[in-house]
Amino acid sequence: MAVRELIDKLNCEKKLSHEEWVKLIKEYDESDRAYAAELARCISQEIFGRDIYIRGIVEFSNICKNDCLYCGIRRSNGNVSRYRLTAEEILQCCDEGYGYGFRTFVLQSGEDAFYDREMLCGIVSEIKKRHPDCAVTLSLGEKSREDYEAFFKAGADRYLLRHETADEEHYKKLHPAEMSWKNRMECLSDLKEIGYQTGCGMMIGSPYQTVECLAEDMEFMCGFKPEMIGIGPFLPHKDTPFRSCPQGSYELTLFLLSICRIMLPDVLLPATTALGTIDPKGREQGVLSGANVIMPNLSPVAVRKKYMLYDNKICTGDESAQCRACLERRMESIGYKIKISRGDHR
Ligand code: SAH
Repeated sequence: MAVRELIDKLNCEKKLSHEEWVKLIKEYDESDRAYAAELARCISQEIFGRDIYIRGIVEFSNICKNDCLYCGIRRSNGNVSRYRLTAEEILQCCDEGYGYGFRTFVLQSGEDAFYDREMLCGIVSEIKKRHPDCAVTLSLGEKSREDYEAFFKAGADRYLLRHETADEEHYKKLHPAEMSWKNRMECLSDLKEIGYQTGCGMMIGSPYQTVECLAEDMEFMCGFKPEMIGIGPFLPHKDTPFRSCPQGSYELTLFLLSICRIMLPDVLLPATTALGTIDPKGREQGVLSGANVIMPNLSPVAVRKKYMLYDNKICTGDESAQCRACLERRMESIGYKIKISRGDHR
């Protein structure tokens, strides 16, 4: 079957065999990518119109107990100036964001035990109390099931935890021995069972990733049916063991965004900051390839440069208001409009 027929088959049946996934990813060319993008864009417009949901992201701590080999804030990077925002600072970021029209706040951090269950529940419930019409998304890494349950009870609506790779052997090459692929996967099924709108995802072009790995990622997501998918290119960071590894492919990232939209039509799919970093028009191209979410930064400018997961991360010098205005213009330039709404999964 030609690649185009595989795209049509995926569109009709919403799944492919392992061999078909491999062929699709291995053999697609630029015209197949354009074909997939157009189909994905149509699907996205049918469901969301030309509305783009925005999520304000507050990166509240760059202190991390983990040592993921790709990540700039890994614990063994001694060149990072570490910070923690207080609960009140986090709340102020959300208050400010509310004024700019954000109705979802994403709290993201390294795995930092300083913020214990009680403190996090307090922050979540205070955000919900101040802004009852808003959704709260957490992205705090691997926690216990009890923690996840407590955050959910406190009012958290969504949780982002990229699976990073569906291939256990590949996972071991990206993470130190004390981290476990099985635990990460268990966290994801816990999150879904508890009732979160759950997000998984992977970097495109991470070191040692093969077409087989990506095929497994797609098969995993096909079965897991996440409400959200975070996909961006791998970008090296100068203070990590992967500093000399090549960055991921921009085109493959866009192609797989389209493929995710075709496979899971109503999935919430951001055009990520990494996509905007690898190409100045990356986020616009992401939207034109089927993405429907943008996640601008709401962190205080004073800490933004300290949350460097990879080199050259964009938007680290701008005030939140500037980011918001810049995105509005960018979306309008391609005929889309920012929607003031929680933007839940339907
Ligand atoms: N501690 C949280 C948040 C991690 S940062 C957690 O464990 O989920 C969010 C995502 O950034 C990661 O899941 C990873 O996929 C991505 N990321 C990290 N380093 C990166 C790099 N060098 N290039 C591209 N993306 C990266």
